[in-house]
Amino acid sequence: MSESGRRKEIDRAAAARRAAARKKKRRKRVAQVWMRRGIAGAVLILLVVGVFFGIRGLVRLFGGEESTSPYGLPSYIQEDYLTINPYSRPGIKLPGGVQGIVVHYVGNPGTSAQNNRDYFEGLKDSGDTSASSNFIIGLDGEIIACVPIDEVAYASNSANDYTLSIECCHPDETGQFTDATYESLVRLTAYLCDRFDLDSQDVVRHYDVSPSQKACPLYFVEHTDAWESFRQEVQTATDQLRAETAGSPDGESDGGEETSASSAAAGEGTAEGESESVSEAGGTETGSAAAE
Ligand SMILES: [Zn+2]
Repeated sequence: MSESGRRKEIDRAAAARRAAARKKKRRKRVAQVWMRRGIAGAVLILLVVGVFFGIRGLVRLFGGEESTSPYGLPSYIQEDYLTINPYSRPGIKLPGGVQGIVVHYVGNPGTSAQNNRDYFEGLKDSGDTSASSNFIIGLDGEIIACVPIDEVAYASNSANDYTLSIECCHPDETGQFTDATYESLVRLTAYLCDRFDLDSQDVVRHYDVSPSQKACPLYFVEHTDAWESFRQEVQTATDQLRAETAGSPDGESDGGEETSASSAAAGEGTAEGESESVSEAGGTETGSAAAE
């Protein structure tokens, strides 16, 4: 082979090597592009998932939808349970489940939810009377749970065994609630209705289960129209909660059986020995400073 022929061959070989190198480089670049796209995609997915769960976390933190409550109560309810004792927290599970909600007023103008809760707690030592309630709503709308939702409280006479009770604070003798108290009452009652499969007709006044007792809650006994519009608001809020939780897998399922207010108002007597102390609670309630 001539000198020039050999050089041409060398040149060709070199060109082929260069081409192969270019091809390899291009393939590497394509692979890098894909890898970068893959990483970007993964980061994007992580970001979306992160934002989603971040928002959920925030909703949990500030939305009051979930809490660490042993009873699964929303975080807008403060749990400050009474010590188990014969006068205000007998520690008896509701024998009839939750079939209704009874609304009360404390009958002691200007007192706070905490004052009333502490009064109930103090009964364990004083033994002055039997009185308590499952919830107390304060003048600023604060809600304290002082007897658990599956236990008997001494508030509603013969209805204690199958209802939950809500005591409301009020600024003066008229017994009318502040806007904040009223709003919390609607919110809490609707929450309980949703949770225990109740409707607004299962929400009654203390007066309805025990007409012979003092007019309680006073304002709602004297203003039937205000009571009816309260019940309507509760129904609307309950329906709204149900619509919200309809598709949610963490919707509550612990329900009491549905009953009408008339059965709640009928106040069936129970065979329990507690019914004695229950009516006793009702009897002494009138004279009590805090419980109405
Ligand atoms: Zn009452």
